[in-house]
Amino acid sequence: MSCRIICAAIALLALATGCAPSAPTAPAAAKTPATNAHTDHDHAHDHGDHEEPKTVAAGLAQLEKLCADVKAHLAAGDHEKADGPVHMVGHLLEDLGELVAKEKPAVEAEAKQALEAVFESFDKLDTVIHGADEEARKKLDYAEHAPAIEAALAKLKELTK
Ligand SMILES: [Zn+2]
Repeated sequence: MSCRIICAAIALLALATGCAPSAPTAPAAAKTPATNAHTDHDHAHDHGDHEEPKTVAAGLAQLEKLCADVKAHLAAGDHEKADGPVHMVGHLLEDLGELVAKEKPAVEAEAKQALEAVFESFDKLDTVIHGADEEARKKLDYAEHAPAIEAALAKLKELTK
């Protein structure tokens, strides 16, 4: 889409009708393709390669594996590959919340806080991965979030062992 042509058309229209040029810009804007590359990414993910854990311990092991995957992909600068495991973490945290409630109801409240902390870290990563800021994406570093993630994981293990 060429803005120059549309702007010229609007200018001509404004000249011809004597109207302010602001009104006709709306339809042009509506036709502009979405600049957010991720509008097709509706966060509805199939669970194809996500195996639901049966126990808290199994879930935590999966979580550690996913963290390692995200870390490796980000270290390699491959944000698209990192996105998959980032989302799986979200699903897994939900599963873990349910498993903890079932298996370890006594520590549920504390465990939920730790799960929440992990979620927040990954949510930040996801925001940058899908953000419009290319520079921020290039600089995205798992190491910045690792301490919070690892502390929460350690806490979860301690609570649920
Ligand atoms: Zn995503």
